[in-house]
This record gives sequence, structure tokens and C-alpha cells, in this order.
Amino acid sequence: MRQADFAQGARIGVLTTQPLGRVLDYRAPEGGCCLGDYVEAPLGPRRVLGVVWGPGDGAFDAARLRPVGRVLDLPPMRDELRAFLIRAGDYTLTSLPAMLRLATRAPGLGDPPASRRVYRRGHGEPERMTDARARVMDALDAMGGGALTLAELTQAAGVSASVVKGLVAQGIVAEVEAPRDTPFPHLDPALPGHALSAGQQEAATRLRAAVATGAYGTTLLKGVTGSGKTEVYLEAVAECLSHGRQALVLLPEIALTAGFLTRVQERFGARPGEWHSGVTQTERRRVWRMVAEGGAQLVVGARSALFLPFRDLGLIVVDEEHDTSYKQEDGVLYNARDMGVLRASLCSAQVVLASATPSLETWANAEAGKYARLDLPARFGAAELPEMQAIDMRAEDLPSNRWISPTLQGAVAARIGAGEQALLFLNRRGYAPVTICRACGHQIGCDDCDARMVEHRFLGRLVCHQCGAEKPIPQACPSCKAEGKLAPVGPGVERLAEEVAEHFPDARVAVLSSDLFASARALKAQIEAIAEGGADIIIGTQLVAKGHNFPLLTLVGVIDADLGLQGSDLRAAERTFQLMRQVAGRAGRAERPGMALLQTFQPEHPVIRAILSGDEEGFWRAEAAEREAAGMPPYGKLAGIILSAPEAQPVFDHAAELARRDGPLRAVGAVVFGPAPAPIARIRGRHRVRLLVKAPKGAALQPALSRWVRQLRQPPNLRLVIDIDPQSF
Ligand code: ADP
Ligand code: ZN
Repeated sequence: MRQADFAQGARIGVLTTQPLGRVLDYRAPEGGCCLGDYVEAPLGPRRVLGVVWGPGDGAFDAARLRPVGRVLDLPPMRDELRAFLIRAGDYTLTSLPAMLRLATRAPGLGDPPASRRVYRRGHGEPERMTDARARVMDALDAMGGGALTLAELTQAAGVSASVVKGLVAQGIVAEVEAPRDTPFPHLDPALPGHALSAGQQEAATRLRAAVATGAYGTTLLKGVTGSGKTEVYLEAVAECLSHGRQALVLLPEIALTAGFLTRVQERFGARPGEWHSGVTQTERRRVWRMVAEGGAQLVVGARSALFLPFRDLGLIVVDEEHDTSYKQEDGVLYNARDMGVLRASLCSAQVVLASATPSLETWANAEAGKYARLDLPARFGAAELPEMQAIDMRAEDLPSNRWISPTLQGAVAARIGAGEQALLFLNRRGYAPVTICRACGHQIGCDDCDARMVEHRFLGRLVCHQCGAEKPIPQACPSCKAEGKLAPVGPGVERLAEEVAEHFPDARVAVLSSDLFASARALKAQIEAIAEGGADIIIGTQLVAKGHNFPLLTLVGVIDADLGLQGSDLRAAERTFQLMRQVAGRAGRAERPGMALLQTFQPEHPVIRAILSGDEEGFWRAEAAEREAAGMPPYGKLAGIILSAPEAQPVFDHAAELARRDGPLRAVGAVVFGPAPAPIARIRGRHRVRLLVKAPKGAALQPALSRWVRQLRQPPNLRLVIDIDPQSF
């Protein structure tokens, strides 16, 4: 029996997941309870999940205190996670209940661990294979020997229960009673990995030594694409596991996890726990419990895995640390990279930030000596970095509504003629970004957003990329009613596919764009098919820039290298530099040398020149100097405040009044800019206005921000969101 911190009937404070914003007082239940215990707390007529947070602040009349319901059969929340939720909440200006919700995102956490009926692959193939049956088999095969409940299986396969039962009757699918929440298979850190190159070995040794200290530290692992960063950080994982501690690997994209799981299996003999939006509800519950109990040594996941209740977390790897998808853009606005560093510092863990093109923030932290830095300057084995060249579009003879220059066409023809693959990169989903009326000049926009509708020809519809609204492509102009005058303007990947088909009628073309895949699984299958040579020409959005490995790919053609340089965003240069070098890095990952061609109208632009020259350190130094001179991150603090409401004027007035009452900000040396229309001035019918607050590095910005916004009463339909370290500014 464990010693209770609070005897039965004692006053306790319980943090619940309900948005009341504070810790509520209760009485300890029968048998008492401990700090960190997960409990069921009665709240009005309901019972909600809570955590015993402290002795209670006495604000409640003792006579009215209710006892909490039962203590859930879960390991109590550790001090480290509690401290993390508090600190991360303070940093992002998020209430504690909202932080607790992030940390308990698994259904039925308190349910007893009874057994349940599940389905897994049996033996043989069905006598008669139908589409529905094939989908059931696919869904089960995707589980790699794992099992699904009937509800999960029918949903994943899109079939009725009778299809599954039919397969059970034939023995093709097995129906079994399985205990819930079983531990994950053991990962063996002593299994030998690949023989490492000298450079890899040195980096691995340093990372192992860092992990072996058992103390906090952060290392930037900077290696060109294909240098074997994954091999190297798996050594750090091995070291961590060998000390009996847990490890977490964060990846920016679910589609990448499949390949990573295979590599973990090869390296450690079993697959790790997974935590991302594609994981079933029952599996989430299992992962959560096993992470808490120590039955999961390694978790690979998306950013929210940071909030799992690790028993003893010793290592966090953030792969592709520069990736913008680490920044959560709705709900709690946090950057998983930065929060990972915070959590590691609270639980004496090491952090490895891996990237070929680090964020300026991470680069600067390494320069300043706050992070260690390890470099892998060469590709593994015989692979060479691709040569990069500009195609000066001013000198190319290209008809309007065509985007592949003769020079690029020639290069593609040569590569596919040699049995290799070419990738054409265009960061624009759909067919055409604009649909314009040739009679009156009207551009078709979204009814609810300040955005143009994008034609998606495969869907036969216009789609708003802000709110997802769709409408059919009209015959007549909605403004002047002229018939047959609407025309697509500008290229998207679907339109590029048309042009490719004209130039290369015999080539096999694959379009990789997130909207063209119904599921992560379908996308993964396509990526595998391409890797095995199932396409000659790949057309892709930024989806392909991330760590996929296409051994036959030797040419990357960037359709519009200038695209990201437009607009006023201070991060545009950094983003373009990272994206272009990542995309180029897809070429020549195996024995055959690669080449990247960038179509540009401004080859003398400093960012384009930096991309081509490969002088990364020079680029970062110049960027850093500019940011420092402007007092911008990472040399100063920045917060974006987005105010929105159905009517434009009240939002603007509220923002203007806040800007006037800047006393609390000036008190900490901060200044406010704006109000100005937000980069997208209307989304889903709400008008949006932005204020930017800039403060010196050492300023206590967050408390000043809360004092500042609390000065004004918020009208009920006005929403105010504070974004610390905004992605664009
Ligand atoms: P990065 O993450 O830096 O892009 P990867 O770790 O994915 O690089 O390695 C690139 C390719 O080289 C992968 O196919 C990987 O299996 C292979 N590779 C890297 N290091 C080794 C090694 N030491 N032995 C064998 N293959 C390796
Ligand atoms: Zn819209």
C-alpha cells in the first residue's frame, strides 16, 4: 500500500480539464489520495477528469466541499510533467485546464483494463476476393500483426460488420479476446546497428556521451540531406534505452513515420509506440498507459506526444527541427521544438535537433553556445550533393500559360531517357490559384474568407484553402453574368501535370499533393511505389520536400523559385532557403549524381544566390545580422495578437484602444505595432485584425501581455488570440 498524501476527507485542490481556469477544492476520497493522482471529480451533474494538484487554497466553504469520486488506476502525474504543464502554459499564455487536456488526450483513461474483442489477420486468402474484403485485409496488414476492434476495423476499411464476420467465418480474419493495454515488445539497444562512417561515428560517440551524463543538454545535429542523421540519432536512442530511460522521436509528418518504424524495427528488433492523428482510440489509450507505466521504451510521434506522461524520459529527438508544422496553429499555440527543450530541461533529458537546414533560432543558439553542434558535412557512401543551377526565365522562350522552360524540358528528357526520375516542384495545390472573368476582371473569391477560390480540376470544384469551402465551377461570371469567360490563371500541380503530359506523353506521372490522398496510408503507398521506380516524373508540393528517399531521383526542377520571396514576411528568406535546399536534397540520394534547376526571374536576388552558392553559414550570418538590427526573434521577443469578430469595425476599435493603452507593455520595454488587417483579413466570416508586440530579449513579456489585454472588457463575440513567437511577421 502506498502512503496517502491526503487522508480521507482532507481538503484537496484538483485541477480539472474543464475551462474554469483554476484549481477547485474537494475532499479526499475514501482511502485518501496522493499528489498527482488522476481522479474523477464531480462538477455540477457531471464527473470530469482531474489531477490532485495540492492542499487546496481554502477559498471554498468547508461545509460545501464534495469528495472527489474514485482515484483512477493510473500512475500519478509526476512532478516533472506538472512543472512542464505550468511552465508551458505560462509561456504560451494557456490556462492550466487546457494544458491538462493536452496531457490527457486518450479516451477512457480511467476504465478498468478488461479484455476486449479484437480482430487480426488469420490465415490464407478469401475464396472470392471483393473490393470490400481487400480493404479489410489491407487495414489489418497495415497493423503489422496488431489488432483492431470491430468499430476500428469497419471504419478503417469502410465496410459493414457483416464483411468482417464473413471473413471470420472463413478463418481469414481471427477474432480473439485480447487483454487491453499490453506493453510494447522489448526494444534491444544492444543489437548492432549499421557500420558507421568515420564522421557518423564521431557524432554518434558525442551524442552517446551526452545521453550518458543523464543531464539536460541540447545538440544541433546538422547534416546535409542523406548524410545519415537518422542512423546517428538512433545511436543516441540506443544509449538512452540502455540506461533504462525512455526516448521520444518527433517527426513533422505522419507519412514519414512508416519508414521510420521500419528502421527502428531493423535497429532494435521491434516497433515502438506511435502517437499521432492516425492512431486509433484504443491504441492511444494503450500508448498513454504504457508510457506512464514504462511499458513503452520509445515513442515516435507528432508534436502532441510531448505531453505524454513519460515515467523517465531521457531523450527527445526533433527530426527536421526547422519544419513549420511543429508550430501548432490552432488551440494551444506552441512550438514543439521549443517546448521539447523546455520539457527536457525539467526532466534531465537530452535533446537532439536534427536538420539539414536548421531554423535561424537553432542556428543562433548553437552560435551562442547554448546548444552543442555536430556537423555531418558529407552524404553517406557514394552519394554526392546535387549540383544547383538557376534557369533565368527572362531568357527562356515560353508561351503564356506554360511553366516548364525549354531548358528544364531538355533536362527532364535526358534523365527519364536514362531510366532515372525527375521531380518538378511547385508549392501550389490544385489546378490554378485564380479564376478570373475575362469580360469584367472579377476573380472568384470565397464567400466567407478574404481569399480566392482555387480550382481543383480533379475534383471538378473550386476550393477555399482557408476554410475548405467548395463550390462548383460556374458557367457564367458571378459578377457580370458573361457566359464562358471564366479562365484559370497561374499554375497549380494539376495544371503542371497537363503540361507534362503534353511534353512527355509516354512518361508515367505521379502527382504528390496532400489533397489528392484520402488517407495517410494511400499517400504512403504512393511514396513507396515511387521509391520503387513506379513513376518517371513526380510533380509535388512541399509534401515531397520532407525526408522521403527516392533512390532513382536525379533531377529536381523548381518551377517557381521566386514564389516564397513575395510578400513582406521577415521569415520569407529563411523559409525559401530551407525549402529550396530541402527539395534539391531529394536528388541524387543513391549512387547516381543529382542536379537541381531553379526557374527564377531574379537570379541575382541575394536569397537565390545564397541557395545556389550553398554558402549556408554566410546566409545565416547575414539573416542573423538583419534580425538583430531589427530586434526581431531570436534577438528580441515577438507576440502576434489576432482579434476577430463577425463585424469589422468593433474588432478594429478594440485593437486600436488596446494599442493606445500600452502602459503595461511600455513598463517592460515592449512596443506595440498596429492595428493592421491580419495577413488574411477575413476567415470563415470573421474579420481579423493584428497587433504585433515586440520586446527586448530579457523582458517579462507574457505577464505584461496578460495585464495589457485584461485592461479592456472583451465584447462577447470578439475573439482574441495571443501567439507567442508567431511563424510570420
Ligand atoms: P538523413 O536523415 O541525414 O537524410 P538517413 O539517415 O536517412 O539520412 O540516411 C540516408 C540513407 O543512407 C538511408 O537510406 C540510410 O539507410 C543510408 N545510410 C546512412 N548511414 C548509413 C550507414 N552507416 N550504413 C548503411 N547505410 C546508411
Ligand atoms: Zn473560405
